[in-house]
Amino acid sequence: MDWRVRGLCLSEDPDLFFPIGGSNSGPTAMQMDEAKAVCRHCPVTRQCLAWAVDTGPVEGIWGGTTEGERRAMRLRAVRKPAAAERAV
Ligand code: SF4
Repeated sequence: MDWRVRGLCLSEDPDLFFPIGGSNSGPTAMQMDEAKAVCRHCPVTRQCLAWAVDTGPVEGIWGGTTEGERRAMRLRAVRKPAAAERAV
């Protein structure tokens, strides 16, 4: 079974997961927090986050993260092996 059919967001307003506005404050931040709260209770958060990180960049809240947070995760994953190679 595809993990997507088990996502809690299926029973929510899809717009909740796609906040409008580039700001991380005010109403946009509140909407992000509300979407992330749904993700925290979702049974497929791990699969969803892995998909979004691997697919990226994708807009919206996926796996309880924003695209900016996933971008930072991708950068850390790229830098970590490079740092390990320099240490050898
Ligand atoms: S983790 Fe969030 S965005 Fe992903 S399927 Fe679950 S509720 Fe939807």
